[in-house]
Amino acid sequence: MSEKVCIFGSTGSIGCNSLNVIENLNNNGKDFSVLYLTANSNIDVLADQINKFSPAGVAITDEGQYAKFKEKYEFRNLEVLKGREGLFELSARDDFTLLISSLVGISGMEPTVNAIRKGRRIALANKETLVVAGAIVNDLLKEKSCTLLPIDSEHSAIFQCLTGEMNSTISRIILTASGGPFLKKNEEEIKNSTLEDALNHPNWNMGKKITIDSATMMNKGLEVIEAKWLFDLEPEQISIVVHPQSIVHSMVEFNDGSIKAQLGIPDMKLPIQYALTYPERIFNDYPRMDFTDSMNLTFEPPDFKKFSCLRLALESLAKGGIYPTVLNAANEIAVNLFLENKIKFNDISQILDKALSDSGFSNEMSIANIKYTDKTVRESVLKNYS
Ligand code: NDP
Ligand code: MG
Repeated sequence: MSEKVCIFGSTGSIGCNSLNVIENLNNNGKDFSVLYLTANSNIDVLADQINKFSPAGVAITDEGQYAKFKEKYEFRNLEVLKGREGLFELSARDDFTLLISSLVGISGMEPTVNAIRKGRRIALANKETLVVAGAIVNDLLKEKSCTLLPIDSEHSAIFQCLTGEMNSTISRIILTASGGPFLKKNEEEIKNSTLEDALNHPNWNMGKKITIDSATMMNKGLEVIEAKWLFDLEPEQISIVVHPQSIVHSMVEFNDGSIKAQLGIPDMKLPIQYALTYPERIFNDYPRMDFTDSMNLTFEPPDFKKFSCLRLALESLAKGGIYPTVLNAANEIAVNLFLENKIKFNDISQILDKALSDSGFSNEMSIANIKYTDKTVRESVLKNYS
């Protein structure tokens, strides 16, 4: 079957990997055509993608970059949409069959929700959508009989472990975490770490925001919330184990005590491909695991004291309602401030702690209230740093 693909955030790490996967799948007999691509600021990468994949349209959300693109490039038969409105317009179109949602942060929420409303199949990398709007998304998926497949490697692993287990009861899932670049550092060393140290992830090459989230281990906290909504679990059914080699991508324990795990080399192309071809598995020539050399796979519990962002994420999930939105907004702003060298690494968790201790938020679960809360938290954090 031919699949007409729209990629939100095609110029990012997941977006570029997705296009590689599509190219490889087409070389192996599949029929994926790229209909729409979107970028925020990386217009030169977008131009290369247009040359290679000939989409019908693109959206460029940064208006300055949109103007530069129009000045610099002239593509025949290409629709170029401007700004966030352009992204929204694409999200509501009827002519693509699959959305790869790979925007970063809450910017991905509304466009993804729009595509679900239209009943599109969704391959989801943008975990923040489920963190802030998991309840709304799940209701919509049911209402529209729409399929959402995870791209996040841990969630893909769990999804793969659950395939064929329709009649089994899950005791719990076990999310693995690499522990990031600061796993072996003590609190004092972490406190004095630089932006460069935090961006130096041992196993994965990803966008800057998720790389900082991995250093604070906030990423695992966001993934616990993501898993809660994806697999309809209680928070107590989600465990975290630190596994520095990132070979076991996650596990499911069933009610008989049996545990299934999914393994593979750490390469996002694998979970992306699975989301694109599910329920089929398609040949590829990506590097494979080599068991002829000895290797150690190790597991240890997470240190919630050293990684207080992880503790705070779990607290926000326990509080429920709007609190994951508060957590996410404070985190997005704190990570940006850290990336701009305006705060120290440890300030990130302090900003989150302060935002979550506020109790004046409405718990109404609507897109409007999520947007309002997100904006309020951002403004209140930024007020202290402008
Ligand atoms: P990147 O930062 O590499 O890419 C983000 C994409 O979104 C880019 O195309 C970027 O455009 C675009 N973008 C950024 N800000 C905005 C905005 N305000 N409005 C519209 N578009 C915007 O991120 P990643 O690919 O690393 O991550 C994407 C998502 O996938 C995140 O939710 C992340 O948590 C998740 N994920 C990522 C993994 C990875 O390996 N990278 C693994 C698992 C999950 P441009 O580049 O043109 O500025
Ligand atoms: Mg992950």
